[in-house]
Amino acid sequence: MVSFEEARTIILACARPVGIERVHLLEASGRVLAEDLAAPWDLPLWDNSAMDGYAVRWQDCTTTPCTLRVTGFLPAGARAGGISVEAGCAVRIMTGAPTPEGCDAVVPVEETDDGQQVVTLHEPVTKGQHIRSRAEDVTAGVIFARSGTRIRPPEVNMLAGFGMALVPVYRRPVVAILSTGDELVELGCTPGPGEIINSNTLSLAAAVREVGGIPRIIGIARDNRESHREKLGEGLRADVLITSAGVSAGDCDLVRDVLEELGAEQKFWKIAIKPGGPTAFAMYGSTPVFSLPGNPVSTMITFEEFVRPALLRMQGYQQVFKPLFKAVLREPLNKKPGKVQIIRLRLEKERGGWLATSAGNQQTAMLKTMVDAQAIAVLSAESTHFAAGDQVDVHFYGNHIEMESP
Ligand code: AMP
Ligand code: MG
Repeated sequence: MVSFEEARTIILACARPVGIERVHLLEASGRVLAEDLAAPWDLPLWDNSAMDGYAVRWQDCTTTPCTLRVTGFLPAGARAGGISVEAGCAVRIMTGAPTPEGCDAVVPVEETDDGQQVVTLHEPVTKGQHIRSRAEDVTAGVIFARSGTRIRPPEVNMLAGFGMALVPVYRRPVVAILSTGDELVELGCTPGPGEIINSNTLSLAAAVREVGGIPRIIGIARDNRESHREKLGEGLRADVLITSAGVSAGDCDLVRDVLEELGAEQKFWKIAIKPGGPTAFAMYGSTPVFSLPGNPVSTMITFEEFVRPALLRMQGYQQVFKPLFKAVLREPLNKKPGKVQIIRLRLEKERGGWLATSAGNQQTAMLKTMVDAQAIAVLSAESTHFAAGDQVDVHFYGNHIEMESP
């Protein structure tokens, strides 16, 4: 038996990126950069105008108002070569156009009479105003995005600006999902007496997809060695294998046994947590194998706390745990010492802080409590009693997007 923390440490020590691929920039958002990227050129590449207006020589504009002769026009996309601002003159210029020779300030059209041949400026001008200087944003050679960065629209924009159509990202792991048990029938069948629908495969596939993995559904291993051998063998060909059920101490619990027979090396069995205690973890070569308990709540909670961080690490993330924040308990909570207890909570915002109440009956078999949960608290093994008003560390779980900003 290992502790909650030991289990995480062992798992993360085994979770390595499964490779790098180059994807088109259109497919890159949400992926994780696998290399540091250096700017191939300065951004911007030339001095240019930040406003629609007039390119001027600042020393010509020290009186207000002042009048200048308009000698040229530079729309966006124009080249500045051959055009210059002579003494007492101005060049009409549009936002983004390169500033001409001699120009050391741009006067916005709103601060002028908008003249075509002659322009009158009616505001004071400062040197350098409204000019974006070459390399002001990024200098050539500077690392503008580091390996391990999740690609978001801003990264996409900069990559595109630098002409980088193919982006090196960590490969998404293919995650085999296998349920075990004679009581299971597949979705679409009507369960007979004693039978239940194999819901874990579906929810595991959803959880894998949500965290960026590619689920590969292996189906159901029946409670005999032959079936376990065949299905586990198939699952071990993926980058990661997740099994559900058959990992307790029951007569039909064959998963660990057959995994060992197939050559997997068990790293631990049983974590001092509730729910989710009879979780096992093994390595088959470089393939992590998570054997999760079959009870749907246990399966989902152990996925959340142990598998999710591993799948993130395998995709190059450094920060793999959800951030913890404090919530104040509205009601007292008691637990036995010796095991970490994982509690499903609902949250409410009050005066800038969070109030937490139980999401329902905390017994493991209560699936509805899981559906209703908005946050999870991981209560330490030593703790026994929490009074109403006590603070606990929680992290979000599930449909929380609208609640995210405290
Ligand atoms: P076990 O770990 O095999 O003792 O299963 C624990 C509980 O989880 C039992 O009530 C099983 O019926 C249930 N269970 C096991 N596998 C699944 C599954 N794939 N989908 C839904 N429930 C399951
Ligand atoms: Mg079973």
